[in-house]
Amino acid sequence: MRAFRGEFLSVSRDPRSDPEAVRHEADGLLVVEDGVVIARGVYAELAGRHADVPVEMLPGLVVPGFVDSHIHYPQTDRIASHGEQLLDWLERHIFPAEKAFASKAHADAVAAFFLDELLKNGTTSALVYPTVHEQSVDALFEAALERNMRVISGKVLMDLGPEGLNDTLASGRAASEALIHRWRGRGRLGYAVTPRFALASTDAQLADAGALLAEHPEVLMHTHLAENLRECAEVAARFTEAADYLDAYDRFGLVTGRSVFAHGVHLPDRACQRLHESGAGIAVCPASNLFLGSGFFDFGQADRHGVRLGLGTDVGAGTTFSLLHTQGIAYQAALMKGMALDPFRALWLATAGSAVLLHIDDRVGSLEVGQEADFVVLDPQATPLLARRTQGADLATRLFALQVLGDDRAVARTYLLGQCAWNRDTP
Ligand SMILES: [Zn+2]
Repeated sequence: MRAFRGEFLSVSRDPRSDPEAVRHEADGLLVVEDGVVIARGVYAELAGRHADVPVEMLPGLVVPGFVDSHIHYPQTDRIASHGEQLLDWLERHIFPAEKAFASKAHADAVAAFFLDELLKNGTTSALVYPTVHEQSVDALFEAALERNMRVISGKVLMDLGPEGLNDTLASGRAASEALIHRWRGRGRLGYAVTPRFALASTDAQLADAGALLAEHPEVLMHTHLAENLRECAEVAARFTEAADYLDAYDRFGLVTGRSVFAHGVHLPDRACQRLHESGAGIAVCPASNLFLGSGFFDFGQADRHGVRLGLGTDVGAGTTFSLLHTQGIAYQAALMKGMALDPFRALWLATAGSAVLLHIDDRVGSLEVGQEADFVVLDPQATPLLARRTQGADLATRLFALQVLGDDRAVARTYLLGQCAWNRDTP
């Protein structure tokens, strides 16, 4: 058993509809046993009851570990690739890079760097795209198991993919089944059936992905939706029977309460209503949407329909591994559609909101009693500018400044299950 003393902040529910969801202890105590929070509260009130537990001081603002609801680990080395929108960017920059993951050794090396980069940025849980290769999932899961990180992933299905990066209906099914059985119940890992996107699979493979999802009630479904206008036009041209892009997935049983769709930048109201009814949700990826010129996610439209939301970086189209900085970009993107995103809501999106989307909110996201003790120590004085902007400021101002000006430099420490997994001062 161990205890941590510091300033704690968490947002367990969407503060837009529930302002009580913001929980803050200016001088708090967090007591952890076997990696799980067993008490949290004001230091002066709790300390007496845990007087025999050793206490570690945490400098800075402590928030729950970030939950990245959409990111691609094989694109790590192609971040900041110049000059194209989605479909051309995939062809020119991404598909060649992903072909290299046929090598397990290459996948191992990238997975290790990728997960360390997540920790350095305060991300403790993530829903991750690998490649079409079965061993790319093994490499990621082995590295996550070694670090004790909460990672959900699943072999990419793309039987219409380019030469060297495609599977078949049969091989896609066999590899998915093998991975689900091989990794079930191990560490903090989870599986997601992962069709790349509607255009990369035949109807038969999309239908089989729906069947796979139905056969395994514990797995998620993870794919892309309505990211870019040219992509949307090509989907409309191929799936002429479908009411809209979401409906193209729905017809194959891929729209369920366990479905996570990245982007959803261009959606009609009907699709938002269907997302709400089904319990499926959107991983909002504002940095990526800006980088690829895809557009701006419409928070107002999503809120009108009660769509479940989380936040993702979408590296390599995303320009940062930092979900802290992505909260600041989300603010700017939301403002382009007329909404001033509240800083506490942005924090919720990057923690408990994403955790709900990934069905891991019983374990992580809010730093409440019974949850796993994954947390990040943010440093409001990480840079001279941050220090000036946050000096003497109230909580909302400090948080917003961290979101807009902060990145990995502002992450002083990252803890997994109460153990320090990253320390900026002793890397
Ligand atoms: Zn993506």
